[in-house]
Amino acid sequence: MTGDPPRPAAQGDGRPLLELRDVEASYGPYRALFGVTFSVPEGSAVALVGSNGAGKSTVARVVSGLVRAKAGTIRFAGHEITRWPAWRIARAGLAHAPEGRSVFASLTVEENLVLAARALGGRRPNGALDRAFSTFGQLAAHRHQLAGTLSGGEQRMLSLAKVLVVPQRLLVVDELSFGLSPAVVDEVFGTLKTIRDAGTSLLVIEQHLDRVLSISDRAVLLVRGRVAAEGTVAEVEPAIDRLLPAHPRWSA
Ligand code: ATP
Repeated sequence: MTGDPPRPAAQGDGRPLLELRDVEASYGPYRALFGVTFSVPEGSAVALVGSNGAGKSTVARVVSGLVRAKAGTIRFAGHEITRWPAWRIARAGLAHAPEGRSVFASLTVEENLVLAARALGGRRPNGALDRAFSTFGQLAAHRHQLAGTLSGGEQRMLSLAKVLVVPQRLLVVDELSFGLSPAVVDEVFGTLKTIRDAGTSLLVIEQHLDRVLSISDRAVLLVRGRVAAEGTVAEVEPAIDRLLPAHPRWSA
């Protein structure tokens, strides 16, 4: 992107970090994904967009091992992870920040982060805390506060910080801005950009198309469980305008 600082070499050479090939997924008899194929190149940010019910969250759940693919293959960092359990995928460096505020309300900010670091196999909770607090400065001031008493925006930051306490190769973020004020959304998107510039690849699901496309290199458009378009943001934008006409394309 014009004006951005050069990416660190650790961000790779654009080879696929995550690859889905012909992935199918169902909830009982209801089929949610039909032959989904796309990839996230190493070092890139990919926007996953589509209308309500298109299957975006299902893609996030399938790649993170929370929902089992019925068919097809998923590869991450050179491994086929299609049948791996969620904990193993997380430890391989694929972090999933699901929709909503996934924090333990009755634990402090610091306790939430220490637990998350241990669950992800981090051996040095102090290093993990430094990393979280340097990325999310606002949380440091609240480190001894119960997570349930944080504001909505702070709880969303804490749920993101929890998956970033140990270095990740890919962050899958679902509906980052849900329930947040525009000012907080801007702040959290700024943080996402920092995370990407520091070398973590991103797969971002987000209703605010302007914001997510502005930090993304590529986009995948899902329509009723199928990939309708995939490519650079410029390549996919006409399909977004055609197939998501009622969408808040340039929302405030
Ligand atoms: P939104 O933008 O509204 O969050 P989405 O694109 O993330 O939608 P998904 O949540 O992946 O869509 O849902 C895809 C389809 O699967 C929808 O029709 C939804 O009703 C269905 N679905 C999702 N979760 C379940 C579930 N646990 N049980 C049954 N059907 C489900």
